[in-house]
Formats: sequence, C-alpha cells, structure tokens
Amino acid sequence: MEIFDVAIVGGGPAGSSCAAFCALSGLHTLVLERERFPREKVCGDCLNPSCWPVLERLGLTQRVWDLRHSKLTSVEFIAIDGHKVIVDFPTGDDCELSIKRSLFDELLLRRARELGAHVRGETTVTTLAHDGDWKIETGLHEAFCARTLIGADGRNSTVARLRNLLPRPARERVALQAHIPLPRNFGKRIVLQFLREGYSGQAPVNESELNLCLVGRPPTISRLRQWAQRHFEIPADQPWRTITPLTRAPVPCAQENLLFIGDAARVVEPFTGEGIYYALRSGELAASAIAKIIGGKDRQFALREFARASAEMYWGRLWINRLARAAVLSPRIGSLFVRAARINPSILKLLTTKIVYPKKAS
Ligand SMILES: Cc1cc2nc3c(=O)[nH]c(=O)nc-3n(C[C@H](O)[C@H](O)[C@H](O)COP(=O)(O)OP(=O)(O)OC[C@H]3O[C@@H](n4cnc5c(N)ncnc54)[C@H](O)[C@@H]3O)c2cc1C
Repeated sequence: MEIFDVAIVGGGPAGSSCAAFCALSGLHTLVLERERFPREKVCGDCLNPSCWPVLERLGLTQRVWDLRHSKLTSVEFIAIDGHKVIVDFPTGDDCELSIKRSLFDELLLRRARELGAHVRGETTVTTLAHDGDWKIETGLHEAFCARTLIGADGRNSTVARLRNLLPRPARERVALQAHIPLPRNFGKRIVLQFLREGYSGQAPVNESELNLCLVGRPPTISRLRQWAQRHFEIPADQPWRTITPLTRAPVPCAQENLLFIGDAARVVEPFTGEGIYYALRSGELAASAIAKIIGGKDRQFALREFARASAEMYWGRLWINRLARAAVLSPRIGSLFVRAARINPSILKLLTTKIVYPKKAS
C-alpha cells in the first residue's frame, strides 16, 4: 500500500492550509474530506486581518481579493435596548473582508491540490489504527496509510473521538446560520447585536447577500429564529445551517505522530471572528513540525515546538475571547457594556483594535 508522509483529516481552512504547506515542503500529502466542495459552513464568513500574512505565504492574497467579497469598514455593537456603538476597522490592504465559505474553502483546497497534495472529497474517516504508521479507514471501506496524522476535522473531531481525546461537549448553546437577501442600505458594517435570548451576527458577504448568524440556547433558539424572521422579513421556511457545541475544552494538540489543528484542537467563541485565522496559522505550524519529523529531526523537540507555537498563537488574544464569551453568555451584561461604551467608547475601541489590528510577525 502507498504510504503518505502525512494524512490530514478535514479539508477546511486548517486542513487545506496544512496540506498546502506540507506539499510546499515536498511531503507526500493526503487530505481526506467528508464533504463535496464547494460547501457552505456555519460561520460569520469574516476574515480577520491576521489571516493576510498566512494567505500571502500561501500565494493566495490576490486570489482571495478576486473572490466575490465585501470589504468591511466597521463593527456596530447593539445592546438589547437598541443603544449602538460603532467602531471603525482598519482600511487599506490589511482590512477585514467577508467571503462565503463555499468560495474561500474551495480556493484553499484547490491551492493544496495545485501544490501537489492528494485530495479525496466525499471521504469520511471512520476508523484509525496506529502501529508505527497510521492506518486510516473510510466509510466506503477504503484504507490509507500514513506516517503522521493531522486531525483538522473541526469541533466535533472524529480523529479526537477515535483516540479518546474528545472532551465531553458542553451543549449549552447552538448556532444557526443562513445567507439571506442583503437589506437595503445595510452598508459594509458587521452588526453584533445582543438579544434577550442570545446574540446575532450580521455581515454583508457581497453586494446582494447578508450572512446572518444566531447564537442561543436550545430552549430559546426558536424565539431567536422568529426574531430574525420578523426583523429581516424572511420566510418561516428559510433553511438554516446549524452547529454545536460553541464551547468545549481544548484537545492536547501534540501527540505521538498525531497533531490537532484548527477547531479540532481548540474552539473559540465566534463573537470575535478569529477561528479561521487560528485554523490557517495552526495548519502552517503543524506542517513545519511534520516536515521536521519526516526529515528525521528530533521528534519530541518538533512536537514541543509545535505545542509552544500553538499556545503562543493565542497569547494576548484569548483573554479578549473569554471576555467576549462572558458578555455573550449574559446578553444583559453585554448590553450594559455597550451602554457604558456610549459614554466612554475607549474600552470597546481598545478591545476591537486588539482583535483587528493584530500584532505583527505571524
Ligand atoms: C456561528 C459561528 C460564526 C463564526 N464566525 C466566524 C467568523 O466570522 N470568522 C472566523 O474567522 N471564524 C468564525 N467562526 C469559526 C470558524 O468557523 C472556525 O473556527 C473554522 O471553520 C475552523 O476551521 P477548521 O478547518 O478547523 O474546521 P472546519 O471549518 O470545521 O473544517 C473541518 C472539515 O473537516 C471535515 N470533516 C469532519 N469530520 C470528518 C471526517 N470524519 N472525515 C473527513 N472529513 C471530516 C468537515 O467536512 C470540514 O470540511 C465562526 C463559528 C461559528 C460557530
């Protein structure tokens, strides 16, 4: 049987980024992806400016700009009582962009393929065995063999579950997402709106569509959906994509010849819109570690380096994400924060700035 240097389970931003960087390093790379691309995903579709350096290293900057997108100019926070605060985004090339995941993820996976990765779509990994190499079986009873394995299969990672590493999910909240017609005069802003039952994120993804996300608890999510139907005049039979959990403990990202990246490793609160950046960057970091391991360098050292660099990626950012989670878990407190920011906007501006003007380097 053909033996790959690395098999990557999942072809989202984490898996595709990792595959592209592995292929760039000359590794014999396999991607196994459950879905048939292009596919949509429950996401706000917003690209944090931190993504640009990684996209540049993937040779994708211009091709991302060429996709149908919206260049976002500001974020508007709306409290439960309707009070609003607007914070402007960076302008220029380091800006915040929104792009439908069907387009963005397809581009990334195509790039991995162009660079030499073997990509198998509509292929669901169901079984794993490790005896020096990894033996990977799929729902169609195909088998693949690889020296190293990457779990890039999202928040409900099958790889983590099969290795008994998946933390018990906290099923406290659920997210719904849909693309709906863009309301007239919506502008180029993101709206983050606190509601009694949870919150809603809204962003234009092109000149005619709005990405609409709703986050709430199972007992109240249908009331949020009704709010959205009234507010945006959308039909009751509007199809929604759904995902859960929105919170779970991280999976230890560096195991023996097995690394976890993106949401499979750590799920962050969607409110701050950074998950795609963590996926892209952790994919790049994992590729560097795998290249060292396959190249015969000290494996333990490579694994430690990967774990350290992965943790570093979150430094200075995770506390804001936790703060956002605290605010959205209690929309009333989040709303009080927005009202306070109307009197003194500097704190909200500072927090937003920390998210959208990331520190340089990675
Ligand atoms: C409501 C909401 C809004 C969000 N908004 C934003 C935002 O605006 N900006 C942002 O940056 N982040 C946002 N995020 C987070 C972002 O969506 C994720 O962080 C990002 O998708 C993680 O990428 P990933 O590649 O790790 O995982 P995923 O994108 O989940 O990709 C995993 C892939 O693995 C595949 N897969 C799963 N199981 C298997 C299997 N057994 N075999 C083979 N393949 C498998 C799946 O089909 C999928 O394609 C949001 C999240 C939510 C819930």
